[in-house]
Formats: sequence, C-alpha cells, structure tokens
Amino acid sequence: VHCSTYNASAMMRGAGSITFVSGGVLVLVAWALAATALPTPYSALTSVLAEPLGLLLVVLAWRFRRSRLAIAATVVGIANLLLRGLFVQQLGQTTSIELSLLAFLFAFNLGVVVLLRDHPLAHPRTLVHATAVTVQLPIAAGLLHVVGQATSASAPLSSWLRLLESRDLILLMFLIAAVFAALAFAARRGTFEVAVAWVLVAGALAFLGGRGVTGAPLLMAAAQLTLLFALVEDSYRLAYHDGLTGLPGRRAFDEAMRLLDGDHTIAMVDIDHFKRFNDRHGHEAGDQALRMVADELSRVGGGGRAYRYGGEEFAVLFPGVSIADARDAIEQLRAAVAKRGFSIRSPKRPRKKPERPIRSGKPVQRVTLTISAGLAERTLKNPDSGAVLRAADAALYRAKRAGRNRVLAQGLRARRRRTATRGSNAPKV
Ligand code: GH3
Ligand code: MG
Ligand code: MG
Repeated sequence: VHCSTYNASAMMRGAGSITFVSGGVLVLVAWALAATALPTPYSALTSVLAEPLGLLLVVLAWRFRRSRLAIAATVVGIANLLLRGLFVQQLGQTTSIELSLLAFLFAFNLGVVVLLRDHPLAHPRTLVHATAVTVQLPIAAGLLHVVGQATSASAPLSSWLRLLESRDLILLMFLIAAVFAALAFAARRGTFEVAVAWVLVAGALAFLGGRGVTGAPLLMAAAQLTLLFALVEDSYRLAYHDGLTGLPGRRAFDEAMRLLDGDHTIAMVDIDHFKRFNDRHGHEAGDQALRMVADELSRVGGGGRAYRYGGEEFAVLFPGVSIADARDAIEQLRAAVAKRGFSIRSPKRPRKKPERPIRSGKPVQRVTLTISAGLAERTLKNPDSGAVLRAADAALYRAKRAGRNRVLAQGLRARRRRTATRGSNAPKV
C-alpha cells in the first residue's frame, strides 16, 4: 500500500528564503568591504561587532529555546575574539598552526551543531555542547604547544603536525560541514540550516580568503547577522503560518483581507463530516487529513492563495479574479481532494509493538474524504471583503445542506447549469 505522509514543514514553500537572500547579501557586502580600508572608528567597531552580536544572539536563543543558535553564535563570537586577540599578528599567513586549528574547529563545530536538535538553554546537553565549544580551542592549542615542544626534535611527529596547517584539510572540513548543513536542510527545511550554510561561507572566506585583519571580523559580523535574520524569519513564520498544515494562518489571512481592494473573490472551504472522520479514525488521522487537504490547497490554481482559517476550515483569496474563474479552480480542488485518498494506520493496530505480533488484517487502511466550498465575489451588495467573506460562508452553508462534496457560488446560477459539476445538482440559491 502506498503510504503517504504529509510533512508540514516540507510544505512551507520558501522556508529560509529571507535568510538565504539576506545572508548572501551580508556575506557579499562584508567580503567587498573587507577589501577596502575602512576609516578608523568604523574599523574599530566592525572588528568587535561579532562579539556583542553573539551575546545578543545567546540571550535571544535563551528566550526562544534555541540551543543550536546559542552554540553557533558562541562559535562565531569566540572565533572573532581569538582572531582579534591571539592570532592578530599571524592573520593572513595561514602558516600559523593555531589559526589553522581555529579554522578547522570552526567548521567542525558548525557541522556538528547543524545536526543537533534544539533544546532549552538550561538543558544538560546544551550545557555540555556549549562548554565543549568554549573550552576546546584553548585545550587544543595548549596540547599543540606541549606536543610541539616535545616533537621539535622528532621529525616524523612534527611533519604529522604540519598536516594540520594544510589549507586543503581546512577546506575539506568546511565542505563536509556544508554537506551536513545541506542534508539537515533537506530533512528539516529550517532557517537555521540556511544560516549555517552562510556562516560556513563567511568562515571559509575569513580563514582562507586572505582578506586579513579587517576582513575576517567583518565576515564574522556578517555571520552573526545572518543567524539573527534566521531567528527573525522563524518568528515571522511562527506568527503567520499554521504549524500543522504549513499554510499561512489566520493572522496572515486577516492581514490579506485588510489589504484586499478592487474586485476579488473569496472561497470558504470546509472538510465534510470531519467530526465523524476524527471519531472513526482518531485525531492523528484527522491531522493527516488536514495536511492532505492543505497540500492540495497550497497548489490551488486560478491565482488563489489558501489560508487555514481555523479548525478544518480554509479560505482562498482570489484578488482580481472573477467568481467564474475562481469557481473553476475550486472545483478542480474539490475533485482532486475527493480522488486523492491516503493511508492511515488502522485504529485496531496496537499502539505498542506486541511481543508476538499477530499477522492478521491490514496494518494500514485506505481512506478518502471530501470537501465543500462556497464562493462569493465583490458586488454592489457586498462592497467590502468582510461582506464577501460572509456571503462565501453562506454559500458554503448551502453547499453543506445540498449534500456536501460540492462547490456553490453565490449568484452564478446560469453558469452552474452549463458546467456539469456536482454543484449543478444543488438546489437553487
Ligand atoms: P460538516 O460536514 O457539516 O462540516 O461536519 P463536520 O463534522 O466537519 O463539522 P464540525 O464543525 O461539527 O466538526 C469539525 C471538527 O473538526 C471538530 C473538530 O474535532 C475537528 N477539528 C478541528 N480542528 C482540528 C485539528 O486541528 N485536528 C483534528 N484532528 N481535528 C480538528
Ligand atoms: Mg466540516
Ligand atoms: Mg467546520
């Protein structure tokens, strides 16, 4: 049986796009600025910028319970601190073993952090990770120092140490970390993964790009700002998008309604007998059904944009579209939903795996469901979007009373008779 699952986050088309564009612009600008000598007050400011930004990010990460953000910001902040302080003289000459070590650990830490899960900041795991990224560099540098002294006489060991200074090795670590970020993005579609990809680009340019003492801190500041943008984009998504279905939510709908002017059509869509569906198949299957319908809605044609209005009700706004064209798009949607079934776990299947599973019956069950919709357009009688919405709701109510699984449009009797759809069986409205 084809088992389909609907991943809400994967449905959030364009997730991370703001971070992708702004991160790219920030890193590019930092790279370009790094080539020019900034006047002293600016260069003094930009050289330390990544550190207060890192602190700000840690505070925000604490409030938003984003441990990965806190760790990434710490890695970038510490890298900047060390670049400025410890390695300032050697910067630009990648022969310094400490600088190579810093570059290697920078990429390594980001490659690891992008694979982690988010926890609250006080979570023991977060504390372990944060401590690890904070102390690893001084420890590693100390060890190097000791080993370096011990091996100054031993040629094979010191040549082995020289390997650490290889630009290729550092580049390889950056590439591996970038692959991890890409894999994590493919799985989660998070803004954080996009930001880490740019942080890695900024890091690779800072450590290997040869822009010197002014360039590296600028790139680190760009990296921190990109992480900040990711948090802002995420917060925007949380506010405006419905977490279950990935569609824009009620707040986005209300705002879009306020901005509607000129001719428009509104469709209200409601799942048929959804309470019964929930009772029969369970709430989890109900959620899966909502995601399936939302997935179809996200691809609605005719210039419509779908929103989760609330519960199992959806609204589709058609700015500048006639009711006849919108109706065709919604009718296609209705047919697509009615045709597209999906598989659910049978409610008889035990939740816990039994010691000796009984191999009888089907573990998954094929189910289908239908939707009803009502449409209305702006008219002299309904001059504003609020009135149009109420008229669409009334048409939906009539579609339900007429037997469900149909699309009813307010004031489109002639066309309804012409087009042979299920709606045409409905009583006159
Ligand atoms: P009708 O065909 O007239 O629309 O009947 P209905 O049963 O679909 O309508 P009703 O409004 O009585 O029931 C809506 C149900 O939708 C009740 C509620 O449990 C369910 N519901 C609302 N939001 C969610 C959700 O997020 N997940 C799940 N699983 N169910 C939800
Ligand atoms: Mg319903
Ligand atoms: Mg309802």
